[in-house]
Amino acid sequence: MNNLKERDKAVNWHPYTQMKTAGDAVPIVKGKGVYLYDDDGKKYIDAVSSWWVTLHGHAHPYIAECVFQQLNTLEQVIFAGFTHEPAVRLSENLLKLLPENQKKVFYTDNGSTAVEAALKMCIQYAYNTGKEKTKILAFKNAYHGDTFGAMSVSGRSVWTKPFGSMLFEVVFIDTPNAENIESLKLQVGDLAEETACFIYEPLVQGAAGMLMYEAEYLDELMKFCRSREILMIQDEVFTGFGRTGKLFAANHLTEIPDIMCFSKGLTGGTMPMGITTCSEQIFNAFLSDDKYKTLFHGHSFTANPLACTAALASMELLLKEETLAAIKRISREHSEFAGILSKHPDVENVRQTGTILAFEYKTDQNTSYFNHIGKVLYDEFLQRGIIMRPLGNVMYLVPPYCITTEELNFIYQNILEVLETFESQRSFPIHAADRT
Ligand SMILES: *Cc1c(COP(=O)(O)O)cnc(C)c1O
Repeated sequence: MNNLKERDKAVNWHPYTQMKTAGDAVPIVKGKGVYLYDDDGKKYIDAVSSWWVTLHGHAHPYIAECVFQQLNTLEQVIFAGFTHEPAVRLSENLLKLLPENQKKVFYTDNGSTAVEAALKMCIQYAYNTGKEKTKILAFKNAYHGDTFGAMSVSGRSVWTKPFGSMLFEVVFIDTPNAENIESLKLQVGDLAEETACFIYEPLVQGAAGMLMYEAEYLDELMKFCRSREILMIQDEVFTGFGRTGKLFAANHLTEIPDIMCFSKGLTGGTMPMGITTCSEQIFNAFLSDDKYKTLFHGHSFTANPLACTAALASMELLLKEETLAAIKRISREHSEFAGILSKHPDVENVRQTGTILAFEYKTDQNTSYFNHIGKVLYDEFLQRGIIMRPLGNVMYLVPPYCITTEELNFIYQNILEVLETFESQRSFPIHAADRT
C-alpha cells in the first residue's frame, strides 16, 4: 500500500472527526507561505492558518534556519534544575510585550495545558494563602481546551457531553455588554467571597464560532473582579500574537489580568508549546519553606529548546514593521469586505476583530455545529483550493499574515461565488454524512 489516504485510514484516528463517515484525509506533502500542496500537486490557500496557528506562512525559511541551528546545538534538556538561553531569552522578550504586571513564565506543551497550569496556579494560590475559595467563573460558550480542567471551564456542549458528570463545577456567566454589565456585576459580586478565579477569552470566543464582544465592557467586568479580589486568567491562546489587529487582546484593554495563557501562534505555528505567565503576587504565594506550597506541575518537554527557538524567531518576524503593516492591511481589507458581506441577503451577523472575520450563512436549517451546511461549504471551498472550516453555518477567515491582497481577494471572490451558487440552488444539497 503506497497510497497515503489508504495507509492513513488503516492506522490514524483524526481529531474532531467521525471516522465512520469522514471522507479521505487530504495528503499534504509540502507547505510554502500561505499554500499547502497535496500529493497530486493541487495547492490550497490555508485561510484558517492550520487551526489558527500559522502566523508567517508554512515552512518559513527564517524559522526553519533558526530551529536547524538549535537542533545541532541542544535539542532538549530537563527543565527542572537546568535552564538554557532560548528559554531565558523567550521569557525576557515575551514579558516585555505583556502588561507590566506579568513577571514570570511557566512553560507547557499546548493551549489546554497552559490553561491547566493557570487554573492550578489560581486554586493553589487560594490554598497557599489559606483562603476558602473554590468557585470558578467562566463565560457561557467558552472554549479553553480539551483536557479535563480546560473542558470543565469550557461551555457545556456536544463536545463535553460524554464527560459531563466528571467535570468540576463552574459558574457560567454571559459575555458583557451595555445592557447586562450591571446585572453581571451583581451576579459576580454575590459569588466573590468564594471565587478563586475568572477565566475568559478576551474579545473573541473562537471555537464557539468567533463570537465577539466589546473591550469596554470586559474592562468594566475586569475592574469589578479586581476590586473583589477575584483572580483573572486571560486566555490569549487564540487572540495572542497579532490576531486581533494588536499584538495581544490585552492591548485593547486598560485593565490587566493576573495570569495569561498563550499557545497557537506562539511558535508561529511551527511547534507545539504553551506558556502561562503570572504576576509577582501569584508567584510569591508559592515561595515558602513549606514544600507543600510548591507548584507541582510539569511536562517532559517543558521549555523545549527547539520550540523556544521557533517562538523567538516567530516573535522577531512578528515585530518587523512589514508584518505589523500586513496585520493592519489584512484588518482593513477584512473590514471593507465585511461591508460588502453585510449587505448580502444570504448573510447575517458579519463581525470582525483585526485579522479575524466571521459571518453566518442565513438558513432555516438547524444551525448547530453538526448541521450539514458546514460540511457542504467545507467541501465546496476545498474543491476551489481554499481551506475554510466553517463552525456550523459560521464561516470565518483567520489567514497567515503573509497573505497578499490578491490572495485575500481570491478568497473573498470565492465566498461571493459560493453564496451565489447556493442561492441559485435555493437549498443545500444534503449529504448523509456530517463532518465534525
Ligand atoms: C485552541 C484553544 C485552546 C486549546 O489549545 P490547544 O493547543 O488546542 O490545546 C485554549 N484556549 C483557546 C482560547 C483556544 O482557542
